[in-house]
Amino acid sequence: MTVVSVLLKGGHVVDPVQGLNGKLDIRIEGEHVAAIGPDLPVDASLVVPIPAGLILCPGFIDMHVHFREPGQEHKETIASGAAAAVAGGFVAAACMPNTDPVNDHVGITEEILHRASEAALAKVYPIGAASLGSRGEQMTEIGALQAAGCVGVSDDGHPIASALMMRRTLEYVSMFDMPVINHCEEPSLKGDGVAHEGYRANALGLRGIPGECESIMVERDVSLSELTGGAVHVAHMSARQSLRAVQVGKERDVRVTCEVTPHHLTLRDETVLGFEHDGSPFAPLAPDAYDTNAKVAPPLRAR
Ligand SMILES: [Zn+2]
Repeated sequence: MTVVSVLLKGGHVVDPVQGLNGKLDIRIEGEHVAAIGPDLPVDASLVVPIPAGLILCPGFIDMHVHFREPGQEHKETIASGAAAAVAGGFVAAACMPNTDPVNDHVGITEEILHRASEAALAKVYPIGAASLGSRGEQMTEIGALQAAGCVGVSDDGHPIASALMMRRTLEYVSMFDMPVINHCEEPSLKGDGVAHEGYRANALGLRGIPGECESIMVERDVSLSELTGGAVHVAHMSARQSLRAVQVGKERDVRVTCEVTPHHLTLRDETVLGFEHDGSPFAPLAPDAYDTNAKVAPPLRAR
């Protein structure tokens, strides 16, 4: 069988793992990248000139998605989520366990992987629940979940609120070398808050949630990770106080990592006010002010 060889000519290649960031050619033979380098010889069967301004990089991995299957297929299925992933350049996604039922059992993990292999698009990495039903009371069989294909555990959607539960879970996962992913919002400090605590929440009459609601749990988890040696990953970090806690942990070689969502990076709490047609934010007391699309947990923060 002849192997088809393709030369991608003149693209801007970015690959942090290989330390590549510049104008380079890529030769693909069959299904494999055979060579990356400047001015590769034009000996391929097909030459594809890459227009200026386009970037070539390895497929992205989204480590926090909610494919709502099983149970909420009207929102998203594994097939529709995997299709959206590859359409956006993502070759793999890690799906959170807060489906209905929660992915707290190997049977559900296996079903997710089965649906993913049927879809045959992005690779799907299931995250198992840390506690049964994600109720924060009783640990799941983490070893069995890993054997079935889970790559981490989380009660995402809810925090692991109990410090003892978090400690035990970190001790347990350290035997399996996978992380606990925590949705950090301290429940008593969050109360029935719905927006970032500050001027805009006040102006709309909404109960506020301070950044410390997140950061005190991040600080707790960094301490418990240091105590147990278990790896903790902070999901959708929103507050600068939390980032400081992660930095302090990293300086002490604690096994802590974190992620941020596109909306927490690009939007601020004023988005909760909603926007006029010309793109300017509503005045706080305008009759149409308040856009519930901007209600996320943790909340969008102020500048
Ligand atoms: Zn979450």
